[in-house]
Amino acid sequence: MAELNPFKIAQQQVDLAAEKLGLDPATHELLRWPQKELVVTLPVRMDDGTTQVFHGYRVQYNTARGPAKGGLRWHPDENIDTVRALAAWMTWKTAVVDIPLGGGKGGVTCNPKIMSDREKQNLSRAYIRAIANMLSVSKDVPAPDVYTTPQIMGWMMDEYETLVGEHHPGVITGKPLPLGGSEGRGDATARGGIYVTRELAKELNIDLRGKTMAIQGFGNAGQYAALLGHDILGLKLVAASDSKGGIYNPKGLDPKQVVDYKLKSGSLQGFPDSDAISNEEILQLEVAVLFPAALENVITEKNADKLRCHISCELANGPTTPDADDILYQNRVVVLPDFLANAGGVTVSYFEQVQNTYNYYWSLSEVHQRLDEKMTRAFHGVYQMFKKEKVNMRKAAYLVSVARVAEACKLRGWV
Ligand code: NAD
Repeated sequence: MAELNPFKIAQQQVDLAAEKLGLDPATHELLRWPQKELVVTLPVRMDDGTTQVFHGYRVQYNTARGPAKGGLRWHPDENIDTVRALAAWMTWKTAVVDIPLGGGKGGVTCNPKIMSDREKQNLSRAYIRAIANMLSVSKDVPAPDVYTTPQIMGWMMDEYETLVGEHHPGVITGKPLPLGGSEGRGDATARGGIYVTRELAKELNIDLRGKTMAIQGFGNAGQYAALLGHDILGLKLVAASDSKGGIYNPKGLDPKQVVDYKLKSGSLQGFPDSDAISNEEILQLEVAVLFPAALENVITEKNADKLRCHISCELANGPTTPDADDILYQNRVVVLPDFLANAGGVTVSYFEQVQNTYNYYWSLSEVHQRLDEKMTRAFHGVYQMFKKEKVNMRKAAYLVSVARVAEACKLRGWV
């Protein structure tokens, strides 16, 4: 498939949902575009005494259902169209889990891997000074994304509070715990995916206990999927992979030992009693649940026909291309689409914001229980649409979320 502009893809997804929902032309056009965007130029003092000029972005895609919410990505390839697309997807993600927030996203074109902590702190503060007017707990709340960390969120929160002269921890989420972060944020993305997998298995009448799982991508999302898939669903881990390749043992791998090994050695290669497996082969294993938890566009029209899993739970953003989606649907592979399956992260970010506003903090078990309620309800909303409209799960999720945002725009009298 030719490389497509992600914002164009995001607009096409809205077009399909708008047509199926019969949206009027004004609502449709409104939902195709970000409501507000800011592009900033940031001069930053570097450690060698020079000044480097960075380009930054913040996009508020739609705020009809609540303040914009979405992460900040620091990446050399970051550009306004990527940010627009990610902001659109955040809008559909917050709507599908029905939390009272809109969608936003931001970022800076930079390579944090070659920057010192002091340079990153300078950039964090410069970015917040430049976009502060767009932010507040009731306007727009950023969070971490690729290559941004709890520490970066802490610096950014401090800069915002310094500017306004008051405490406002809820202006940014994904903070370190001592600065008002939430319990349970670390494993929230994988945990949300495990809850929706559990609900889907119930609907499909599959008992997952003792059945198998394979995980492509063994970072934050993949490692917790291995641990929680085992602990909560009783799944047996048979294969896992990272950027250097994978490991396989059909009799089962101990998830805790595999995670410890990866954390200690930085790789999965050489894990005892396992065979090597490639990143392509892992996708084609006959397993009950496959967790794509690495990169986008790994399941395409070229390999979709070879997938042998029953359920594909997309913890990664965008692992399946639209053509592949249709093939999987025909082959009865049930896909839990990314913006539903990985919405546990933003849901606990929302909980963090709520706790900051109350200045009262929940226990880990309270966070888990509330996350379970949200994810379970979100799954069943999408599943009902899936059965009613006889479309694939991703299209069903779009129909649910676009309808919710369109309704809020109408009720406000915007269209
Ligand atoms: P991470 O950086 O912690 O881990 C990524 C993992 O993928 C690493 O183990 C890396 O080795 C592996 N990887 C890289 N290239 C690979 C390749 N070609 N084949 C196989 N594995 C490869 O990232 P993460 O936070 O776990 O995020 C993974 C995916 O989940 C991303 O798509 C991300 O956008 C999505 N996601 C994460 C969160 C979250 O809260 N962490 C929330 C929503 C979505």
